[in-house]
Amino acid sequence: MKNRNDQSASRPELIAALQAAGLRKSKARVAALQALRSGLPRHFEVEDLRDALHNQGLKAHLSTVYNCLNDFTRVGLLRRLTLANGAVFYDSRTDAHHHLYIEERQELRDIDPAEVEIRDDGTIRLPRDLLQGKTNRVDLLVTLKR
Ligand SMILES: [Zn+2]
Repeated sequence: MKNRNDQSASRPELIAALQAAGLRKSKARVAALQALRSGLPRHFEVEDLRDALHNQGLKAHLSTVYNCLNDFTRVGLLRRLTLANGAVFYDSRTDAHHHLYIEERQELRDIDPAEVEIRDDGTIRLPRDLLQGKTNRVDLLVTLKR
């Protein structure tokens, strides 16, 4: 898979990161954070994290994996992305950015916000080389603060 995060961290660093985020340490959370930092692609599905935990020797039940994902999302360590087709991905990049979904590979790629222009008149300019006539559909979700 692409977009792997290559940072690895020691167990004390992982525990400190959990505490800094306001989460208590647990075996599953430490293992999940380790996977996020060193084993998983940037965009992943719940089964990917479950498999990463299993590869670390932790036989976590799927509900435990969901709990980790929900906790990490709640404290801002992850973003949850629900696509128009119902697929749910988790994103370890939490700053504002856009996504390109490649259906045949079921893969998300980041689009840098600087590549998308939202003008005052409401028109939107997308990167031309990104589209190249292969676009099936553009789903736009705008989230307002109020
Ligand atoms: Zn992303």
